[in-house]
Amino acid sequence: MENLQSALKDRNLSVPIVPGKGRSLFATRDFYSGDVIIGQEPYVCVPNNSSVSTPKRCDGCFTTSNALRRCSRCHVAYYCGTACQRSEWELHRLECEVLSRLDKEKRNSVTPSIRLMVRLYLRRKLQNDKVIPSTATDNYNLVEALVAHMSDITEEQLVLYAQMANLVYSILQWPEINIKEITENFSKFACNAHTICDSELRPVGTGLYPVISIINHSCLPNSVLVFEGRSASVRAVQHIPKGTEVSNSSNTAATVGVSRIPPFVSFNSVAWYDSTYPSPLL
Ligand SMILES: [Zn+2]
Ligand SMILES: [Zn+2]
Repeated sequence: MENLQSALKDRNLSVPIVPGKGRSLFATRDFYSGDVIIGQEPYVCVPNNSSVSTPKRCDGCFTTSNALRRCSRCHVAYYCGTACQRSEWELHRLECEVLSRLDKEKRNSVTPSIRLMVRLYLRRKLQNDKVIPSTATDNYNLVEALVAHMSDITEEQLVLYAQMANLVYSILQWPEINIKEITENFSKFACNAHTICDSELRPVGTGLYPVISIINHSCLPNSVLVFEGRSASVRAVQHIPKGTEVSNSSNTAATVGVSRIPPFVSFNSVAWYDSTYPSPLL
């Protein structure tokens, strides 16, 4: 948190705890309409591809075309070309391993929400193993600090999140994580994940931006969230004087809980695979 405070101080922002609101983002200088207050890459993101949606979107740039090519190993990831496939490979390498264990029917139950959660744990592992670096604004502690509002969710939602958590647990097969924690993370997604939109405001994917998620909702927001590809930036829509809270309209939780997942699933045995290089595209 201290690292985050000092990183944000350089951007003329602070994150005080406001009674009744929790963490909140404040301007420490004047911002004017059009100014970028903060920009962030997603901690994890996923395009809105379901087993039935066509055409698919590229995992790297979220563009859509009929010429996208599918990962030949897991049959879940799509790419517009080798540049996007390579840029995604560190994370997809691990994801590809776990998804390719699934039979076709189980693979079809991997919704964007399930994929987002699987990717969350895989990215945490990559940072824990120092395969990819952690920074003050890009680390799992920021995800841990997000609110889950578990006491506000209905019993039906809780059952749904627990079923989805069960599936994620079965896909990862990591004994060190528990279903309760994954269930809570689904609730965090519902409260904090953002719908990524293209320039025409069509939803193209979902991403978790843990610093941007600190910004509280207001019915009269003084900033707006805009996307360029999957990069998010918060821009002032009016003069925000020094010492004012930055507020946003909400666009969270669009894809969490879109479909029911069978609670019990079985998986094929694991075949060893040389994953040093990206799988060929189909
Ligand atoms: Zn692409
Ligand atoms: Zn793959």
